[in-house]
Amino acid sequence: MKKRTETRPIKVGDIQIGGQNKVIIQSMTNTKTKDVEATVQQILRLEEVGCEIIRVAVLDLEDAKAIKEIKKHIHIPLVSDIHFNPDFAIEAIKSGTDKIRLNPGNIENEEKIKEIVTLCKERHVPIRIGINAGSLNKKYEHSEESMIASAKDHLRILEALDFHDVALSFKSSDPIECIKAYRLAAETFPYPLHLGVTEAGGLLNSSIKSSVALGNLLLDGIGDTIRISISDDPIEEVKVAKKLLRVCGLRNDVPNLISCPTCGRIQYNMLPIVKQMEDYLEKVNKNVTVAIMGCPVNGPQEAKRADVGVAGGKDSAILFKKGQIVTTIPQDKIMETLIKEIEEF
Ligand code: SF4
Repeated sequence: MKKRTETRPIKVGDIQIGGQNKVIIQSMTNTKTKDVEATVQQILRLEEVGCEIIRVAVLDLEDAKAIKEIKKHIHIPLVSDIHFNPDFAIEAIKSGTDKIRLNPGNIENEEKIKEIVTLCKERHVPIRIGINAGSLNKKYEHSEESMIASAKDHLRILEALDFHDVALSFKSSDPIECIKAYRLAAETFPYPLHLGVTEAGGLLNSSIKSSVALGNLLLDGIGDTIRISISDDPIEEVKVAKKLLRVCGLRNDVPNLISCPTCGRIQYNMLPIVKQMEDYLEKVNKNVTVAIMGCPVNGPQEAKRADVGVAGGKDSAILFKKGQIVTTIPQDKIMETLIKEIEEF
């Protein structure tokens, strides 16, 4: 089985995927790509929360041409997502795309495939072959083995042209099927794997499905880049991806929030503070663990691994660090005290 440190690395712009233990976070815009301003604005927001590679849909030549202008205003590599039409791929590469997502077996014109591969080689543009369980060629039965066989069909075309700058994905809306397919892929191919559960639902559903599927794979050492697919603002995809990688021990530039579920012992309005802290921590890039606990009786002890935390009482709250009580603070100063501590950490 090829672990992520053993896959054949590719370069997407200035970012390496594969051959290392860093797992790259991707997302996809949901604007019309030809609407350059809206697309750029969305990408800049995604960059701000930690998106490292962005994919855009290319549905026509206008979208493909817009990439040139979009690239002038963004700071992360851009991937063009293309189905079937080779001319859109050629135009996207000429516009400066850093990678394309394209299944060569879906293109009948061999000359066009050769042209795409030649351009990709000249400009160091890798290709992701994306296998989706739901849209397998009709000649295949629905199974993980079929997903692997389908990838081999597409790969054969590229490898025959001596093109190996490839990443692969094997997405399904069923997390268990994803796990099986990616495990099989890691045993079969040397190429980096782009992990994702597709059509995973809204924030809650996708977070659970993606955590089960991707969490299992990532902890096994499988997966070089991830996209969490959520029916929501793509910002949420990046937030979930970062938290998932943190929980899997693959990121230490993401804070960790510990907070108790509250119970009958609680004596203050804790939940709005947890919400505010979650929002604040979205933009903090530090390996800091923060605790917000419901009562001073159990709080500091239960959260003793937190770098800094508070436990609210009836009229005040205690501030603690690594389980040791430091001082008492007024309840209306909880947020500002914690923010100061986090900034100084
Ligand atoms: S920290 Fe206190 S309020 Fe929170 S769950 Fe534990 S006992 Fe209950």
